[in-house]
Amino acid sequence: MAEIETSIIPGPRARVQAMKEYHPPLGCRDTLRLDFNENTVACSPKVREVLGSVSAASLTRYPEREPVEAIVAAHLGLQAVQVALTNGVDEAIHVLFGAFLEEDDELLLPVPTYTMYEIYASATDACVVTVQTADDLKFPFDRLIAAITPRTKIIAIANPNSPSGSAATRAQLLEIAARAPHAVLLVDEAYFHFYGETVIDLIGTVPNLFVARTFSKAYGLAGLRLGLLAGPVDLMRWVRRVLSPYSVNSLALACLPPALEDEAYLDWYVGEVLVARAEFEAALDNVGIHRWPSKANFVLVEIGPEHKEFTRLMSAAGVLVRDRSSDPGCDGCVRITIGTREQMRQAAGALYETLSVLKLKGGAQ
Ligand code: PMP
Repeated sequence: MAEIETSIIPGPRARVQAMKEYHPPLGCRDTLRLDFNENTVACSPKVREVLGSVSAASLTRYPEREPVEAIVAAHLGLQAVQVALTNGVDEAIHVLFGAFLEEDDELLLPVPTYTMYEIYASATDACVVTVQTADDLKFPFDRLIAAITPRTKIIAIANPNSPSGSAATRAQLLEIAARAPHAVLLVDEAYFHFYGETVIDLIGTVPNLFVARTFSKAYGLAGLRLGLLAGPVDLMRWVRRVLSPYSVNSLALACLPPALEDEAYLDWYVGEVLVARAEFEAALDNVGIHRWPSKANFVLVEIGPEHKEFTRLMSAAGVLVRDRSSDPGCDGCVRITIGTREQMRQAAGALYETLSVLKLKGGAQ
């Protein structure tokens, strides 16, 4: 075989070469998983039943997302043309950014926030403009409004936000959409079920509003990769041009209707998390660990300079938590997902043990 001169093999675009690598710290997660804000139990038994009945013959076909999009849209009170199913919300973000962001555009982000916004934006030719929250980590409404420029093309807001757990109000989101009519407002409602407030009913009424939802959190289907993007019909058609027609696989599509139908399961899981969150927050308060109020299925705590060792000791005690210290404004912080009451009692036990080793204030009880 003729030898190929390696120096002439093409490299990727300069923007891709400049991208940061992102490796989620997965691997060896067989203990209590309080590190990725997943459902910590299982999906609905009705979903498992459907999974078990998927035939080998049905897997020979390409997946057809439209009928399932119609079901989800009806469930959300939307028209099918306003909704696209995606391979997790990550794909929704990727596709939306790819469809709208070009050179000289700005992506406006309040930070700290979900890491993937910046990662996907960095693959485009747009630039990222960040607005830092104050120490209270509350949604920086005034500063975000002040940062809107004629170049702002997308404003991405996780609501509730991760890792802070804080939320923007409906009135604030509406005001932002109105103040940036030349931009797209993406409201990422990944943690909606633990918060209960939404702007998805405004799809179509607010002409520049998109809402994303995931099935990875409350529904417990992170492994299936299922999310959705809802938006105005005339903008969704551009999204559909970029979206791969088969990115949502048949197993995910088959599982979606039973997941939506089993509201009792969802209510149980969300109810369990909310009670567990209150109990765990009380445990944190008891030992004097500073935390921020949370509207989601996790809580951000301030551990201080020992954050790495804290995370390591918690893991050694059988509880995985996520060091968020490198997030902007989160120095010394760790994020702890909320599971069931029983799991959070186990987590509280690991916390006391860890604190006693670290001899942090409050220490073991
Ligand atoms: N948005 C936010 C705010 C998230 O925290 C996450 C996941 N951690 C996602 C989107 C990604 O969700 P999915 O699993 O549907 O890609």
